Amino acid sequence: MADLYYDDDADLSVLSEKTVAVIGYGSQGHAHALSLRDSGVNVVVGLKEGSKSWPKAEEQGLTVKTVAEAAQAADVIMILVPDQHQADVYSAEIAPHLSAGNVLLFSHGFNIRFGYIQPPADVDVAMVAPKGPGHVVRREYEAGRGVPALVAVEQNPSGKAKDIALAYAKGIGGTRAGVIETTFTEETETDLFGEQAVLCGGASQLVQYGFETLTEAGYKPEIAYFEVLHELKLIVDLMVEGGLTKQRWSISDTAEFGDYVSGPRVISPEVKENMKAVLADIQSGAFAQRFMDDQRNGAKEFAELRKKNESHPIESTGRELRKLFSWINDQEDDYTEGTAA
Ligand code: NDP
Ligand code: MG
Ligand code: MG
Repeated sequence: MADLYYDDDADLSVLSEKTVAVIGYGSQGHAHALSLRDSGVNVVVGLKEGSKSWPKAEEQGLTVKTVAEAAQAADVIMILVPDQHQADVYSAEIAPHLSAGNVLLFSHGFNIRFGYIQPPADVDVAMVAPKGPGHVVRREYEAGRGVPALVAVEQNPSGKAKDIALAYAKGIGGTRAGVIETTFTEETETDLFGEQAVLCGGASQLVQYGFETLTEAGYKPEIAYFEVLHELKLIVDLMVEGGLTKQRWSISDTAEFGDYVSGPRVISPEVKENMKAVLADIQSGAFAQRFMDDQRNGAKEFAELRKKNESHPIESTGRELRKLFSWINDQEDDYTEGTAA
């Protein structure tokens, strides 16, 4: 069992003489900045001039500066702009203001692992990565709880990088829930694999194929939506509570028997070979390069893929059905603008 760190293992006072710049005020940025502030840490938020987030952060009582000014003012700099923009923001506005003894923090190892950001050797580089969306990180902190987090140290010239990372994790509530130590390589590769093979890519494709199979066989799209998408959450909740065993205990014997005999037919051993190929592309940097090349080319492939997937019939069926569910809070404005967690 990996070592776990809790509140008693982290000392917030290592941040007491320091200024922490949180660069970006999106999903993670707002949660980190507000919770650090509420934990008594001296925080400044760094944003682009004219940023939509600027007035929001000020209304919430935070000091906001340009990224360059915030980086200049800070000893500890947490980079929380989207991964594909971090390298440009870093080289233009952060790197020129780094000095020996500064600490550079990340919540995902992408840019360090794949070499898009190469910090100078006299700067500490560490990670504090909450294992949940930013809005949940903030909500849990306010409720007196926390979301579990990972910490990692990539460069440690000061010898204090881990203490700083643990203190930061405490400041956002992470050590209330438990913090596990990892490496930039392990976090980056497992995070990308999990979201591509299982959580996002795998689950979305499974749902789409299930919907297509039922509707092509003549069943009503509304019924298909319920069976393959809506009920997924109920099943996943049981898995999170008690693993696959609790899920199988709760479903009927008919469903459980079907799980055993048909699961391996649908997700055949060949799927595992495909997963290994996906992992190999992550490890080699081929996925990262495809993503970054496309981003630097105006994100054309990304836009096409998004459009194609948004027009899948399960989406229009779901939109109509969810209007009838008063118990689902579907604020489309929250996500139809584009990026999400
Ligand atoms: P968001 O997309 O929510 O970040 C948006 C913020 O970044 C906004 O404040 C935006 O400003 C600002 N921003 C965007 N581009 C620039 C730029 N060029 N210069 C300055 N500011 C910019 O990011 P996330 O919070 O999703 O992700 C941040 C990091 O956290 C990533 O490394 C991600 O992998 C990691 N992470 C995210 C999780 C999540 O829950 N989302 C979970 C765990 C880790 P504006 O208002 O002007 O658009
Ligand atoms: Mg991820
Ligand atoms: Mg059923």
